[in-house]
Amino acid sequence: MAASDLDASVRRDLLSLDKANAESVARHLVMVTRLLEEAPVLALEHARAARRRGGRVGLVRETAGIAAYNAGEWQEAVSELRTAKRITGNSALLPLIADAERGLGRADRAIEIARSEEGRSLTGEEATEMRIVEAGARMDLGEPEKALVTLQLENLSVGQAGTGPARLFYAYASALLAAGRRDDAVTWFMNASAADVDDVTDAEMRLVELADPDFDPDLGYQEGVDGSSAADDGADGDPVTADADRRVPHNPAPETPAGDVAPAAPAAGPSVREQVAEVPAADPPVAEEPPLAAVSATTGVAESSPVVADTEVVPVGGSAAQVDGDESPEEPESGEPAPETVMASYDALLLDLDGTVFGGHAPIVGARETLARAEIPQLFVTNNASRRPAEVAEHLNELGFEAGPEQVVTSAQSGAQLLAEHLEPGSRALVIGSDGLAQEVREVGIGVARSADDKPDAVIQGYSAHIGWAELSEAALAIRAGALWVATNIDATLPSERGLLVGNGSLVAAVANATGKTPLVAGKPAAPLMIDAIRRSGVNNPLVVGDRLDTDIEGAHTVGLDSVLVLTGVSTARDLLAAPPEQRPTYVVADLRGLYLPVDLVRIVAHEGWQIRIDGHAVTVVSAGGPVESLLPSLAAAVWASGESIDHEELTVSGADGTASEMLHRLGFGVVG
Ligand SMILES: [Mg+2]
Repeated sequence: MAASDLDASVRRDLLSLDKANAESVARHLVMVTRLLEEAPVLALEHARAARRRGGRVGLVRETAGIAAYNAGEWQEAVSELRTAKRITGNSALLPLIADAERGLGRADRAIEIARSEEGRSLTGEEATEMRIVEAGARMDLGEPEKALVTLQLENLSVGQAGTGPARLFYAYASALLAAGRRDDAVTWFMNASAADVDDVTDAEMRLVELADPDFDPDLGYQEGVDGSSAADDGADGDPVTADADRRVPHNPAPETPAGDVAPAAPAAGPSVREQVAEVPAADPPVAEEPPLAAVSATTGVAESSPVVADTEVVPVGGSAAQVDGDESPEEPESGEPAPETVMASYDALLLDLDGTVFGGHAPIVGARETLARAEIPQLFVTNNASRRPAEVAEHLNELGFEAGPEQVVTSAQSGAQLLAEHLEPGSRALVIGSDGLAQEVREVGIGVARSADDKPDAVIQGYSAHIGWAELSEAALAIRAGALWVATNIDATLPSERGLLVGNGSLVAAVANATGKTPLVAGKPAAPLMIDAIRRSGVNNPLVVGDRLDTDIEGAHTVGLDSVLVLTGVSTARDLLAAPPEQRPTYVVADLRGLYLPVDLVRIVAHEGWQIRIDGHAVTVVSAGGPVESLLPSLAAAVWASGESIDHEELTVSGADGTASEMLHRLGFGVVG
């Protein structure tokens, strides 16, 4: 699709929005363009604001995906770019999607994309981009030889000049270096430098480094160009790959979080970004710098401007106004002002249910009193798509909580919303799931089909105890026939009193296996449910509270929110220590009562009262007068900072003294010695 076509189609799409809304979306898009390179996190906030208002517009999703990519929010980038591609058919997004998969540590998926029929049918610059990403993925996997073979499929004739050849030569040089062919690498960095008339690579810098006898290509300079970030690299044990790679020149903003957390070489097709840059600027209403919405100091999210959002924002009162009570049960001795609590640091709570608020048919210890006296709005955000909000609220009320259906955000609602965003009004979806899910689908104006023979436009799949082979087969038939596929959530298991049962994710996997397709996902850790929850809260700075690192906490990362892990459900203290960067919470507390602890006490950083020593796989805790609440935060901070060398299977955690041993035992670590 040519940029000029895109312009026209975007104008048309924006025209499909309410006028005031279209202007607001366009303003946010302009801000994304302006901030993309210099302030990628802020750019992403603007992109998200545009998405909230104009999520049906392909280019808005594309911009959101590129902004997420530039900010290193890989999961969100994958999800948005895939959606954009589905809407616009823009195949130039494929290399970006593949590269974002690399950012998530999924090099194999990046290769799969490159090798797919669609990946192979790219031409010109896009094809070259795809090869560069594929080669990068090979290097992620420690296969520089295969990276070389991949790049040799492109035109490596010396004498070409321009961005494309410069980037290709640079990637080739990096792969040569990773393969131990230093002299050849020097030659190709020189070729890259010669081709690089637009100065898009740092090939010259690499040549200077390689000319330095103290420079070890296996280690780089010891202090490293990335500061301490090597410790945070989720995926890659091989510094050559990560390092050589990270310098691949098309990283749009080397100082962004992307450079910090991701092993990936962003291979943003400049063509894609340029298209984005061109479009809003070419849009007449926004060309003359309209007044911008105020930007919140805390999050950078534009405060809601007086526009009609495409979905109504319903601020939720929660139990505010109920309680105007004392500060904290943990209030310190008289005289001193109470330190700010976790709760007081945020303006809403986005609470997971099972394992956080209740466990099956019983409230979790401390949950009722904590939530009863909370003065900020509370939303209950659940991946469970089998029950409707009113039923969930009723269950909460039976357990002694105060909750209304408007406080419950389910993956069924978000899944239905996804359908609405992708389908024309009046379309039909095959519903594989509960009646509650079917009802949510009807409420967004999509008809419900019950068989593949009805030729549905989409399939939506959520958990129900009544799904069997026959229903899954209907889904497979419809998906094979080209229906859009949405999964409410992909939790592999379903916790029960008897243990872990088969969850929706496992049923989705059966259909994926039968069709070779992957669904759009609404639930945590994917963005849609989290975004719906934020939107419903009507606030800028909510805190995500949950018991699972791989859904709740990763979901918080997906949308850039702070999070707190409670140890009353699935994830344990030991799991926390082993968490990859995208699953690391801001705080950890024993249970919900911890929300009234001082915010700095439970933040996951080093705390003065504890000394943590790490020797190989042995972690020793020395008590230096710290309270139990800051022990796990200190421990997690130390283990995370120690990098990738720890084998968590082998990890032992022990106390050097009686106090430390006792407290570790309470946290579930075996007491050694
Ligand atoms: Mg849970």
